[in-house]
Amino acid sequence: MNCALEILQSRFGYHKFRQHQSAIIAAVLEGRDVLALMPTGGGKSLCYQIPALIRDGAGVIISPLIALMHDQVAAMRLLGIRAAYLNSTLDFATVRETEAALLEGELDLLYIAPERLANERTLDLLDRSKIALFAIDEAHCVSHWGHDFRPEYKRLSFLHERYGAVPRIALTATADGPTRREIISELALENADQFIASFDRPNICYTIAQGAGGREALWKFLAREHEEDAGIVYCLSRKKVEDIARWLTNKGRTALPYHAGLHKDERQHNMERFLRGEGVIIVATIAFGMGIDKPDVRFVAHLNLPKSIEAYYQETGRAGRDGLPANAWMSYGLQEVIMFRQWLRGSEAGETHKRVQHGKLEALLGFCELTTCRRQALLAYFGEELPAPCGNCDNCINPPETYDGTIEAQKALSTVYRTGQMFGVQYLIDVLGGKADERILRNGHDALSTFGIGADVKPVEWRGIFRQLIAQGFLTSDTQGHGSLKLTEKSRPVLRGKQQVQLRKRRKPAPAKARRRPRTAITLSQADQPLWDTLRTLRLDLAREQNVPPYVIFHDSTLKELVSAKPATLDEMAEISGIGNTKLKKYGQVFLDAVTGSPDQP
Ligand code: ADP
Ligand code: ZN
Repeated sequence: MNCALEILQSRFGYHKFRQHQSAIIAAVLEGRDVLALMPTGGGKSLCYQIPALIRDGAGVIISPLIALMHDQVAAMRLLGIRAAYLNSTLDFATVRETEAALLEGELDLLYIAPERLANERTLDLLDRSKIALFAIDEAHCVSHWGHDFRPEYKRLSFLHERYGAVPRIALTATADGPTRREIISELALENADQFIASFDRPNICYTIAQGAGGREALWKFLAREHEEDAGIVYCLSRKKVEDIARWLTNKGRTALPYHAGLHKDERQHNMERFLRGEGVIIVATIAFGMGIDKPDVRFVAHLNLPKSIEAYYQETGRAGRDGLPANAWMSYGLQEVIMFRQWLRGSEAGETHKRVQHGKLEALLGFCELTTCRRQALLAYFGEELPAPCGNCDNCINPPETYDGTIEAQKALSTVYRTGQMFGVQYLIDVLGGKADERILRNGHDALSTFGIGADVKPVEWRGIFRQLIAQGFLTSDTQGHGSLKLTEKSRPVLRGKQQVQLRKRRKPAPAKARRRPRTAITLSQADQPLWDTLRTLRLDLAREQNVPPYVIFHDSTLKELVSAKPATLDEMAEISGIGNTKLKKYGQVFLDAVTGSPDQP
C-alpha cells in the first residue's frame, strides 16, 4: 500500500486517497474481486489504474465508452502510463501494434470495448497475455433496470470462468438495489468485496423552478450564474434539442446539439468541441453524457422532467466532477406533468413494469414539488441519511412558503367533477375564472355552481394549483391524450372536507439585494485575473497542439492553485495537487515561466 500512495503522489500528483480508494486498491492488490459503487466524480478510475500499475501485467478495462477511449488513453499517457485501446475505430495496423505491445508486456492499461471480447482473436490474445486485473467500468450496463443496458455486458461473466485467477473490479455510479443485485448475479460477483461510497455531491446546488417559462428561465439562469461556463442542457425531444441549441446560439452562446438522430460524425464532432473547447454548451437528449469525464461542467440544466430520480441524479451528476461549485437546474410546468402521466398510462409496457414506472414517476414528481431540503430527499431515495438540511439547494437557500390550499383544491376538483371529467386545464381555469366564452356557454357551464368561484385567483396561480394537484395524485389525465383531467380515489376525501391539501406559494423572485451572488466556481481577485487568463490560454494552446481536451493537461483546480500559490520553483510547483512527476517534467517550466512572468513569455 505504501507503493500505492507513492504512485498517487508521484504519478497523479494528489496528496491523499479519497473515501474507499485505498481499501479498494488494497483488496485488488490482494487478488480479490471488488464491486465499487461511487458517485460520478468520486474517483473510481484510480481504483483500477493504481493496482494495474503495481500488479504484474496489464490492467484490462472493459468500457462501453468507445468515443471517449482516445482521450482516456491520452490522459494516461500524459501521466507517463503506458496505455492503449482496442475498439472498432482503429485501423488494422494499430490493432496489431497494440496487440504486440500487450504480448510483450509493454502496456500498463488496455481499454477494450465489450463487443470486442466476444471475438476469438481477442480471447486468444488475452489467453496469451499477462493480465493484472479486469476492470468492468459502467457495470450498471449489465442491468435491464438501468438506463444504459448493453447486451454485450451480459456475457462478461465468462471473464470469471476463463480467467478465474485474475481479480475483477466492477465499477458504477448507479446505486439502487435492483441494479446492484443484477450486477452481482450477472457478473458472478457473489464473493466480491463491496464498497459503497456516499452518493452525496456536496458541491452541486440543486434548483427546481416550477411553472417557469422554459427557455427564458434558462436564459436568465445562464446570464445570472454561468455567462462563460461549459454545461449541458437536457431536453426530451430531438426537435427541442435543435431549437434550443439554435436559440442559444442566436443569443451569442456556443451551443451544439447532440441526439441520436444526428449523423455519427456530427455527434462526435459536437462532443469533441464540448470536451476540447472552453465554455461550450451541449444541448442534448439523454443519449448524451454517460462516462463524459469532463471535470469542469459547471451546470446541468433540464428543460424537461427526467425519467426518474435515478436519471435525474445521474444526469445532474455530470456537473462539477472537479469538486468545484456547480449547478443542477431544472424547469418544468403543468403541461410536462400532464404529458408524463399520459405517456405512462398509455405505454405498452406490461403491468409489473408499469407499476415500477409509476412508482418512479410518483417519486420524481414528489421530489420536484418538495418544499424541504432536496439533498436530504435525494439521498434518502438512495437509502442514505443526511442529518441536517444541506444549505445548498433552492429550498434551503430560499425556503418556499406553503399554505392550506384545501379550499382552492376543492374548487378545482369540484369543477372537474361538475364538468363531467372531460376537459383540460385551460377550460377548467376558464370556468373557475367565470369566462363566459362560446364553448362554456354552449356547454351550459356558466350555470355551474363553480362558475366564476375562482375569479379571485389569477389564471397563472390556478395552473400552479392544478400542477400540484396532479403531482400529488388528486387528479389524473386521460389515456387518450386529450389532456382531460379526472378525479382519483385520493380526491374524494378532499371534496368531502375530510382531508387538507397543502400547497406551495408561487415563488416571487427574490429582491435584488437578497439574491445570491453568482457562485462562479473560480473566484479570483482582480489582480490575479490576468495570470488566470494567461494560464488558460497556455493550457488551451498546449491542448490543441497535442489533440487532447484542456483538462487533460491540468484541471481548473490545479490552475487555480497555481494562480494563488504562485510557485517560484519547480519544487514548489510539485506540491500543487494535480501535478505529478511526468507533468512537472513536461509542463512545469512553461507554466512556471508564465507564473513568474519570465521575460521570454509572451
Ligand atoms: P469517477 O470515474 O468516479 O466519476 P474519476 O475517476 O474521473 O471519477 O475522478 C474524478 C476526478 O477526481 C478526476 O479528475 C480525478 O483526477 C480526481 N481524483 C480522483 N481521486 C483523487 C484523489 N485521491 N485526490 C485528488 N483528486 C482525485
Ligand atoms: Zn438543501
